Amino acid sequence: MPDIDRTALAAIPSVDRLLGLPMVTALVAEHGRVPVTTAMRAELAAIRRALVAGEAVSADEAVIAGRAAAALARAAVPSLRPVFNLTGTVLHTNLGRAPLPEEAVAAIAAVARGAANLEFDLASGKRGERDDHIAELLRELTGAEATVAVNNNAAALLLLLNTLARGKEVVVSRGELIEIGGAFRLPDIMARAGAKLVEVGTTNRTHARDYEGAIGPKTALLLKVHTSNYRIEGFTAAVDEATLAGIAKKYGIPFASDLGSGSLVDLARWGLPPEPTVSDTLASGADLVTFSGDKLLGGPQAGLIVGRKGLVARLAKNPLKRSLRLGKLTIASLAAVLALYRDPDRLAARLPALRLLARPQADIRAAAERLAPRVQARLGRDWSVAVVSCASQIGSGALPVEALPSAGLALMPVAARGGGRALDRLAAALRALPAPVIGRVAEGTLLLDLRVLEDEAGFLASLAALEAAA
Ligand SMILES: *Cc1c(COP(=O)(O)O)cnc(C)c1O
Repeated sequence: MPDIDRTALAAIPSVDRLLGLPMVTALVAEHGRVPVTTAMRAELAAIRRALVAGEAVSADEAVIAGRAAAALARAAVPSLRPVFNLTGTVLHTNLGRAPLPEEAVAAIAAVARGAANLEFDLASGKRGERDDHIAELLRELTGAEATVAVNNNAAALLLLLNTLARGKEVVVSRGELIEIGGAFRLPDIMARAGAKLVEVGTTNRTHARDYEGAIGPKTALLLKVHTSNYRIEGFTAAVDEATLAGIAKKYGIPFASDLGSGSLVDLARWGLPPEPTVSDTLASGADLVTFSGDKLLGGPQAGLIVGRKGLVARLAKNPLKRSLRLGKLTIASLAAVLALYRDPDRLAARLPALRLLARPQADIRAAAERLAPRVQARLGRDWSVAVVSCASQIGSGALPVEALPSAGLALMPVAARGGGRALDRLAAALRALPAPVIGRVAEGTLLLDLRVLEDEAGFLASLAALEAAA
């Protein structure tokens, strides 16, 4: 039995007494009476537990109030908050993918505070369609007859398969049975949609005759999936969109292409590796094309389906559409992003995703040279900070093999011994900053790829809060 200090137990102040302290009155003004009372109770309970366990703890009023204040401040920080993405992956799924342009941020704010004509036709005064706010723009930018929008591209596929192929068969090449991060597997989505997957060809080679051989009375759809997050190289064969469209037409079944990233413009213009565009895919004869709003398009999370009017109308009528539909904040933001595409000449200047992907290495290196001495001063003599060349990734599965020449800061502990642990501690300390900095530990350094860093002042201000580094 531990020795219980009964005098100390009896001396624990009451909650009421603590609430009377001037310091606590200020806390109540900031956080409210209920949270402050709860925090005080938690502190007092912890002290009581410690004393009963025979530990010596202070029950000093100011110490208790100070601890409660710290706990309240921690709880006031939102769980979801902005971070500095210095991972080198521009469209980082775990870090929220595409950064939005100011136009989209303003559009969200404009409709967030109050009512908006989300499903209301201002001309007629009658009910409207929420997707109409983006349909015109999408038709203009892709050449599609009609469009429908849902919560993400996985939802777009679910809706498409469930509408067109429930209880029927969908023919897909074995080389395209993809898994995308976060447990998204095409065969699983297919099963949930109620469609039967018919695999054709082999992992590396699929021919037109494979598709034709698999088509039967139960075939509802030919599906091509852009193998966005990997590439099969060597002895390979795949059937292109135009050929698939021809086969689909011959047998009177629709052909859909899931582009994944699906760019609206030819990225070659900005020196980026080529990626199939939505309009080219439609022009090749695809009846429907699905793609994400927050990958190369550079907008908010959304799944877009464009294509033939009759097919899109069927998708829109599926009750699942109601479960997968977009909210007004996303629609406002998406409309603002799509509007930027009308002016391709200024697109790279205005759309952050494209601007960052196209950012020249020399520009990034100059930022690294600027920041290196400041970061070195912050980290102190136990660390070396070097300007290095590195390679960024586009991310979100787009163009997995292509790397973008970039530059950054390599942070390295000066002492060779215990270097690995020091790196992990520094990485953790950077993540714990009020504006967390996320880098990547690689080859004995903590690498901060600066491609995505535009707010250098904000980054330095965040680093200022770093406690004598790790
Ligand atoms: C990313 C991707 C998806 C899933 O899109 P989300 O918008 O993340 O739901 C589906 N198919 C392909 C080919 C993809 O690249």
